[in-house]
Amino acid sequence: MALTRDHYLCQVCYRQGRVTPARTVHHIVHIKDDWDKRLDLDNLETICLECHNKEHPEKGAKNKGQVLRHYKQRHRNDIFKFKGNDDDPMLF
Ligand SMILES: [Zn+2]
Ligand SMILES: [Zn+2]
Repeated sequence: MALTRDHYLCQVCYRQGRVTPARTVHHIVHIKDDWDKRLDLDNLETICLECHNKEHPEKGAKNKGQVLRHYKQRHRNDIFKFKGNDDDPMLF
């Protein structure tokens, strides 16, 4: 159901403006954190393998570099956002 709703496209990539076909469904809130959400459609999103690995860094140390890159990317986005206000850019 989630796959059909998301048109078999990775929603993480989609939010970043990329179109990636995917066939995996990811629980946004992990089942171990909230068992009641395991069948909640709002808690499911279609995700590609690459993004899924980033969502589960605990799955293997070989993903460490990937996660770090991901974090740096996000951090850079934050800097970009803050440029919009009048704060001294040297603070960052
Ligand atoms: Zn993706
Ligand atoms: Zn997952």
